[in-house]
Parts: sequence; C-alpha cells; structure tokens
Amino acid sequence: ATPAATMVGSTLGAQNGVLFKGGDILERAKDVDTVVFDKTGTLTTGEMTLTDVVALEGEPAAADGGDAATDGGALATRESLDEDAVLRLAASAERDSEHPLAQAIVAGAEERGLELADPDAFENVPGQGVRATVDGREVLVGNRRLLEEHGVDPSPAGDEMERLEREGKTAMLVAADGETVGVVADADSVKESSTEAVATLQERDLDVMMITGDNERTARAVAERVGIDPDNVRAGVLPEDKADAVEDIQSDGRKAMMVGDGVNDAPALAVAYVGTAIGSGTDVAIEAADVTLMRDDPLDVVKAIRISEATLQKIK
Ligand code: ADP
Ligand code: MG
Repeated sequence: ATPAATMVGSTLGAQNGVLFKGGDILERAKDVDTVVFDKTGTLTTGEMTLTDVVALEGEPAAADGGDAATDGGALATRESLDEDAVLRLAASAERDSEHPLAQAIVAGAEERGLELADPDAFENVPGQGVRATVDGREVLVGNRRLLEEHGVDPSPAGDEMERLEREGKTAMLVAADGETVGVVADADSVKESSTEAVATLQERDLDVMMITGDNERTARAVAERVGIDPDNVRAGVLPEDKADAVEDIQSDGRKAMMVGDGVNDAPALAVAYVGTAIGSGTDVAIEAADVTLMRDDPLDVVKAIRISEATLQKIK
C-alpha cells in the first residue's frame, strides 16, 4: 500500500477498533481465504462458571457384572465420595492454577461454602490439567490424557464425560490416589455476535475453522452453535501444536487469518498469514499478532477484511 492508503486504512481501522501493525498487514488482510478461530475466549466469552459436579458410585470388588471388577481378575475397588468431597479435592488442587477453568472450579467450591485445603507439590500440566497433593492424597484434575499419562483409567467416568461434553461443556476428570472419583464441568457462553461473524465470513466465501485444546465433542457442540462445519474443527490440540495446526492448514497455499486471545495462541498467530488478537486477550497474543481487535467482537474480523479491501480499492 502507498503511505497515503496505509494512513487512510489505519485511521479507518482505529475508528473501528481494528489496529493494523503496518501497511503490509493492511494489504494482506484482503487476501485471506480462511479464518481460523480459537474457541475459548474468542468465539466464547471465556468467562467460565462451574456447572456440574458428579461423584461416581464406588464399585466394590464383589459387584457382579461390573466390567472393572472382573477386568483381569483384579480387585478393582473404587471408593465413593460425595459431590462436595469431589469438588473440594478438585478445587484444592486447582487453587494455584491461573487457568480460567481452574478459577471457575475454585469459585464454585467457595460459593458452595467448601473449605479448601492447601495443596502441596502443585504441578501445572499445560493443555491437560493439574496435579497436586491434597490432604496427603495424590489428586489429578484434567482431561483423559492427563489421567492416562499418570496411569489412571478414566473410563469409569466415560458416560458422564460424554453427556456433559455433548452439552458443550468442558468436563474434567477428578482422580484421587490412582482412581477416577468424579467429574467437574465448566462452561462459558458463545459471544453474541459469533454466529453472525461466522455466517458473514461464509457468505463472503471464506472457509471458517476452529482450533481448540478442548476435546472433540465439546468443540463440535460449540462449532454447531456458531455454524462452523464439524469437519473444520481441530480439537484436542496441545498448546505447542497450535502453530503446527495452522501451518498444516496453510500447507496447500491457503492464506489463513488466525484469531485468538491466549498465550497458547501466540505461536499460531505468528505463523498465520494474518494473526489477529482479541484486545482483551493476553499481552503475549497481542504482541504476536498483526491485527488487534480492540473490542471483543468477532464481527470485527469481518471489518478488518473490509477495511483492507476498501483501502486498497481506493488507490487503484
Ligand atoms: P484451550 O485451548 O481451550 O484454552 P487448554 O489448551 O488450556 O485449552 O487446555 C486443554 C484442555 O486441558 C482443557 O479443555 C481441559 O480439559 C484441560 N485443562 C487444561 N488446564 C486445566 C486445568 N487447570 N484444570 C483442569 N483441566 C485443565
Ligand atoms: Mg482462548
């Protein structure tokens, strides 16, 4: 773009809450053919609340017909905790985590008047969950991968996990001393304009996709709500793999705009043809991005593309 066009575009952008980091970005945005949205905090509000606490029934070794009990002849007993006990363990383990999922669990426990324990040996496992010692018990809170990697079988919670995930919630397993004892679920809501933003982009013949660390079922439930084709959803993507996923999408010559808010999204924003950060997102994301949307509005993605088009048409 000429300096004059850049100035016009930048000014127009600023008036609309869309900040472009320079003239070449302004020029590039109009050539985007694919928009890849992060889910949490981008299409959804990211303001999580605790919605469900499930305590699994204990399974005495003598129970007849129980798969777990007969499996390999092992005396698989699972102790039965009540909901408050499950939530208290989970919230105590999550106390030192800054993850929004964790903060919602802690807030939910406090709202229910539970007294939390001080965890020892807290460990954050990015993209999976947390591990901590609570009252001398080894507690895990997180996804299936977290439990499996610690040698804990998540299958006793399978049905409950599925049910909650179909509702679009992020369901997290709670394990104590090597046994799955319950499930807690958090949910946030889809931003008001997400559906319209997706539809408008699709009307303009752009492919709209979603990348998330969340599981497949939850991701698809949210995708369905906002109108993204389930085939265009990449779920269960670890933070360090988000950039690879964007590179993979671009490997056939696509020009992708990645839109995200989190620290996790920064590398993906950097490799995308255009990286777009949500203004209320983390500084790391904003630094890595080419465009910043000052409002939290996904519709401003459309604005960014339109401003780029309008600016460059003016100079032709
Ligand atoms: P997102 O991409 O949605 O921001 P993350 O990559 O941070 O998600 O995490 C991916 C998944 O790992 C979450 O959906 C959740 O199942 C699990 N997880 C991550 N952090 C935590 C935590 N502190 N407590 C429980 N589960 C967690
Ligand atoms: Mg996010």
